[in-house]
Amino acid sequence: MSSPRRLLFLHTGGTLGMKGDPGPLAPSHYSETVLPFVRGLDELAEIEHSYLCNIDSSDMTPALWEALAATIAQGLDRFDGFVVLHGTDTMAYSASALSYLLQDLPKPVIFTGAQRPLAHLRSDGRQNLVHAAICATLDVPEVGVFFSRRLTRGNRTTKSSVQSYDAYRSPGLAPLVKMGVDIDYPMAARRPAGPFRLRAGFDERVAVLHLFPHIPARTLDALVDDGVRAVLLLAFGAGNLPLTGWPRSIERATQAGVAVIVGTQCIDGSADLGRYAGSAAARDAGALGAGSMTVEGALTKAMFLLGQSDEAEQFRLSWGLDLAGEL
Ligand code: ASP
Repeated sequence: MSSPRRLLFLHTGGTLGMKGDPGPLAPSHYSETVLPFVRGLDELAEIEHSYLCNIDSSDMTPALWEALAATIAQGLDRFDGFVVLHGTDTMAYSASALSYLLQDLPKPVIFTGAQRPLAHLRSDGRQNLVHAAICATLDVPEVGVFFSRRLTRGNRTTKSSVQSYDAYRSPGLAPLVKMGVDIDYPMAARRPAGPFRLRAGFDERVAVLHLFPHIPARTLDALVDDGVRAVLLLAFGAGNLPLTGWPRSIERATQAGVAVIVGTQCIDGSADLGRYAGSAAARDAGALGAGSMTVEGALTKAMFLLGQSDEAEQFRLSWGLDLAGEL
């Protein structure tokens, strides 16, 4: 008989373990609000629990991402897979960050959470938890987000709904796993290309700027003057920007060693610098393109790359490399 699977559940907080309805929802005791709902999973795997923190994910930090990654790295020999219990609001940021920290990951790391606390009769938490645990036993060695029947690549996932139990989307990329009556694998998972490496280091001096018609380019100048080292511009449509003032400010930023990255405000499609004159001018002024990366995937990649090197040229070279399937 084969030995049972071993999973590590890592608790960080989120609605699934909260109490307080009516009233503001707030984190409560793991042993009361989460553990009773995990017990039925023993037939699937031997489960151990690690309690990293118990926060609303709005309070997540890069230091906690690193602690989470270090705990996973330490457990890689002992466990077959990992389930990270996390608030839905910033889950896509954490999953993206972990995908860069855990390079050439050999085992599944599955983030999940709930739109309603596990203790509620109508909670989506139990189904998410069961399916996330199943995904953690499958041959999908990626950092993924399991929510509402789909496992999607973490750094290509974004929260799209406050209300729906189907709260996430992975624009332009098929799920890794689809849970129906049967389990389907619409997209092949990535495979480690070499030995596993735990990375560390994020630089938080980044900003996201959502453009609007007639936004003054001095908004970018002000960020640069304030010491920001990378700015993600959420531009219009195919990554287009105003011609007035913006190329000059982008050039000023890049000459100061600040990375200017152009993405799109649209959920579907990608920033294609050069398709219109505005984005061609931005590119010629030194801007980099975010392609079809999610905001979460692009921003955490910028934080990660800045944390690895101070060299603007190194950032430029690394930006174009596919570190963890984010491109
Ligand atoms: N505010 C909660 C959080 O992100 C939302 C949730 O978990 O669904 O922690």
